[in-house]
Amino acid sequence: MKKLYAPSTVKTIKDSHDFKFSKSLGQNFLVDKNIVDNIVDGAGIGPEDFVIEIGPGMGVITREAALKAEKVVAVEIDKTLIPILEETLADLDNVQVINQDILKTDVNEIIEKFSGGKTSKNVKIIGNLPYYITTPIIMKILEDGVPADSITIMMQKEVAERIDAAPGTKDYGSLSVAVQYYCDTKIITNVPKEAFMPQPKVGSTVLRLDIRQQRKVELLDKDSFFQCVKAGFGQRRKTLSNSLMGVSGITKEIVRESLEAAGIDAGRRAETLDLYEFASLANEVYLRLSKERGK
Ligand code: SAM
Repeated sequence: MKKLYAPSTVKTIKDSHDFKFSKSLGQNFLVDKNIVDNIVDGAGIGPEDFVIEIGPGMGVITREAALKAEKVVAVEIDKTLIPILEETLADLDNVQVINQDILKTDVNEIIEKFSGGKTSKNVKIIGNLPYYITTPIIMKILEDGVPADSITIMMQKEVAERIDAAPGTKDYGSLSVAVQYYCDTKIITNVPKEAFMPQPKVGSTVLRLDIRQQRKVELLDKDSFFQCVKAGFGQRRKTLSNSLMGVSGITKEIVRESLEAAGIDAGRRAETLDLYEFASLANEVYLRLSKERGK
């Protein structure tokens, strides 16, 4: 198979299959070998690894991943790309393409069915995602407890910056806290628009999320934690004593007591709290709310 990352190859395949790029499916295909390598090498794929690729397109990342991994399962929603993938991946016997919507796919089931019993250390998820599904797919994988080592994906630059942001910065928000609860984050590279065909309007970044098998913080109740984070950032300009009133069923008294018990000044704002502070605050809120509800 000719170099899939060459714009001329993409054009030839496109014309011979009468394929049309779909804007609504976020089809901006990679035509830069360095960036393909950044994703595959950034994910640290090795010969023992089982890889799930989201949105293979014409298979440009799939091929490079398959040359390094034991097996690759690629989930592609667009059925018009399936005959193309059959052609571009024909010489590889360790790739399985599944024509499905990743958001409706049970990723745990794919791992169970195709990974040959790999432990999470050897399961890696990669992709150049359509930007509109970045957050839902990341949160789905993390919340479903998919037994994977890492997720290395291309996304909109601004979203990568928000996920990777540190407390006290303008980008730090509920998405940063939600993802950092599960993962360590690392920006691999920023990607110029010229690396894609057709070129997207927004800048892109490859981000790696290393899923921690052991959480950094102990939560008494995950729901209370996410409710506190959501309420805090829902009104990010307000002090915590005000913004936490957005937590369902909470009272001024519970807010005051919880902040005090967690050792957090009531005049601070959500954007200044790190993961540990959010966790201890949420635990104090949970204890008081469940006592109140048990009355
Ligand atoms: N990986 C290819 C590349 O880098 O050239 C294609 C990347 S393109 C940005 C995104 C791909 O995801 C497209 O092939 C698109 O059809 C596919 N896609 C979009 N939504 C999807 C979904 N919900 N489930 C699976 N694949 C999807």
